[in-house]
Formats: sequence, C-alpha cells, structure tokens
Amino acid sequence: MQNLSEQEILQTFNLITQYYEKYLKDYGIKPTKLKNTNGQYTKDALVLAYLARNYPNTRAVSKAQLTDFIRAFYPDVSDVQQARHLSKQGGFYIISGTRGDIGVKIPAGHYQLITLEKPYPSFKPDRRSGIESADFEELKKEYDYKCATCGSIEGEPHNIRKNEKTILQEGHMNPSLPLEIGNIIPQCQVCNRPDRDRWIYDKTGRVIEIVDSDDGKRVVEKYFKRVSTNTKEYFLEFLKKLLKLK
Ligand SMILES: [Zn+2]
Repeated sequence: MQNLSEQEILQTFNLITQYYEKYLKDYGIKPTKLKNTNGQYTKDALVLAYLARNYPNTRAVSKAQLTDFIRAFYPDVSDVQQARHLSKQGGFYIISGTRGDIGVKIPAGHYQLITLEKPYPSFKPDRRSGIESADFEELKKEYDYKCATCGSIEGEPHNIRKNEKTILQEGHMNPSLPLEIGNIIPQCQVCNRPDRDRWIYDKTGRVIEIVDSDDGKRVVEKYFKRVSTNTKEYFLEFLKKLLKLK
C-alpha cells in the first residue's frame, strides 16, 4: 500500500473532522489536532488519516506499514502505538488483530478503522473527559490558583516561559486511572504536557513514580543505561525474584 500524499492526508483529515463533529463528539471523544505547536502533523492525525484512507472502504493495515508512514514525518519513530491508544483511550472504533477484539478477523499486528459514526465499543467517555468546571474551579481555589508542580499563577506570566500566560489545566496525577476528583491536580500548560505519559504525581504536584507506558519505559531505559553495573545487577536479581525465576 502506498503512502498518503500531503493532499490525501488533508482531505482524509477533513473527512474525519466532519464525522467527528457529526457523530463522535457527542460520545465524549476528544478531538484530534492536525498539527502540534511546531506546525508538524501530530502522530494521531497521521495514524487516523492512514487508517481512514478511502473511508468508508477501509482496510486492515499492519503496524509496520503505519510505522513506515509515520517515519516519513518522524524519522526516529521505532514503534507506533497511536492506533492502540486512539481506540482504547481515544474512543475511535479501531480494531486490533492482536488484541482479539470480538468478531475480528484481521491478522495479528494489524489495525482497521471500522466506522467514524460510533465509538470503540468499550470506550467510556468519562475516562478522560475530566470534571465539571465548577469542581475544577473549587480545586484551583484550594491550590490558590497555582500550578501544583511549578507554582505558576493562573493568568499571570509563567514562571519559566515568561512570555506565556499561565493556563491551569486538569493534570492527571496517575494517568493509568480515570481523570476524576482525587486524581486531578491543577497544572499549567507546561507541566501538564498531554503528549507525555511519564510521571505519576502526588497531591502536591511532586513526581512520585513512573507511569507504566511507553513514555515511562523510555525514562526507565535511560536510567538503566546510566547506572552502575552494581545497580544493574541489583535490579536483575530484584526482577528475577519478582518474576519468581529460580
Ligand atoms: Zn507548572
């Protein structure tokens, strides 16, 4: 299968947007951005466009094809996870041959967009939709309208990016759990980078753990590459015990 031209990407993305507005929005699915702040196409938009090609006559595409396509825009990409995230968390009705979705007859390692008129069957719209704005106002008040992590004050110049105004957002304390009261802290636009699922925060906005995610794994990989042989051996033994190997 040939890669999409720039024009096909734009046309397909426009079509996705039309369907999104007409059908998917009401299910609580979050919109996908075409481009990030650097003016680059987002990986989500690229993956969606690739899967929605010739919609509604879509076909199964392999992860290798997707990765190959994304590499034209992100040369460093090794493993494209977007299709999986877009369905399970994002709500798009994309089936996976690996996951064993019910009634699916596509090969392992393949994905297919089924429809843009309905969400993924097990999608729960409250999972990432956040809290009522009144509740968030209340929460921000408890934090004196400051970012829990860096202390930047809402509406005032950001502590680090001084030419930007601070915007407080619903920060996910533990991204593996639903975005709801008890798992939300106010965070500024810098600390709450939605494209990064790395850290688990406590109520005071401090990092306490690493998320079990691809971004989290990259943090741990860096750590293991850096630490001493002693530490590596310690963890080797630790993991053996944890996995009950001998
Ligand atoms: Zn902050």
